[in-house]
Amino acid sequence: MRPLLEISRSAFRANLAAVEARIAPSTLMLVTKDDAYGHGLAWSAETAADAGVRWFGSYDVHSAVRIRDVLDSRGRVFAWATSEDAEIAEAILHDVDLGVGTLEYLRRVVAVARRLGRPARVHLKVDTGLHRNGVRPEDWPAAVREARDAEKAGTILLVGVWSHIAEASDAEDDESQAVFLRAVDEVRATGPAPDAVHLTASAAAWWRPELRGSLSRVGAFCYGIRSADGPDLVGIRPIATLIASVEEVSDGRARIGIGSLDGLASTLVGAPAGSPAGTTTVREIALAHAVVDAWPSASVGDRVRLFGPGEAGEPSATDLAERIGTVGEEILTRLSPRVQRLLID
Ligand SMILES: *Cc1c(COP(=O)(O)O)cnc(C)c1O
Repeated sequence: MRPLLEISRSAFRANLAAVEARIAPSTLMLVTKDDAYGHGLAWSAETAADAGVRWFGSYDVHSAVRIRDVLDSRGRVFAWATSEDAEIAEAILHDVDLGVGTLEYLRRVVAVARRLGRPARVHLKVDTGLHRNGVRPEDWPAAVREARDAEKAGTILLVGVWSHIAEASDAEDDESQAVFLRAVDEVRATGPAPDAVHLTASAAAWWRPELRGSLSRVGAFCYGIRSADGPDLVGIRPIATLIASVEEVSDGRARIGIGSLDGLASTLVGAPAGSPAGTTTVREIALAHAVVDAWPSASVGDRVRLFGPGEAGEPSATDLAERIGTVGEEILTRLSPRVQRLLID
């Protein structure tokens, strides 16, 4: 049997509800980058939309358009990657909002919108210290002026102001927020207040209510991935379980059908796993198989859970990530296409 990633739609719905309750009155923008953190984009956008989620965030325009196709006219989709002109046009034609973090990109968005004769919906990004992308505070007044001019000319709608923070220390995040709020004030002073004001991702949206804007861009927590070195989250649980079946039992060991070629990091030797008789231990990870300690009744076809919500004693993806100095997202997104995705209710 191929390894299996079993994904629970009801667990996803429960996480969405828990996040929405926690962050209210801020509105959830469900972030779905990296194929919804390896869980699959289309079903998760559809499930979230059916559950009432109205904002979706995707890194690139291509995925944003896929979400738009699923949503039809429901809700808003936001794509924040600086994109080629052809993608800008795609976004405008599919009613996708664009995150804009440089003056050069703003000008290209304006030019494409003018050519199409349809306004682009723009969320202007200020750099609040991460130096990834975003208009520097000293350039912000000029960028706002240019955006307002384009708005008057009918080429854009300035619908949002946003930034991204490190979520590494409260003090730094507080400083970022101060810069952010000044930038928002500047926008408000020059015209209609933008509806969408957003700064926080999962951790800050969950733990720092004072940083939340009208929207909170939350990905990981909705998929049940807690922060590495962060505490458990009440009401949130992993929605995906990685399962491999026993192929052979001998000498107190069980060989299972998953290996490093399937995306299971070979450095996870020693990690716990879930068996029909409770927690066992991973002893070896080869290219196409792994070996775990057998349990008394172990037999071919038994299912071993490498990560999941913990029902058979298996660790979470983040528990595994912490063993090898990474984040839960990486454990999930590195799984190969050979791992079969199965949606269950
Ligand atoms: C990934 C990302 C998010 C969501 O982060 P999570 O920690 O998964 O909630 C939000 N905003 C931006 C800009 C991102 O890149």
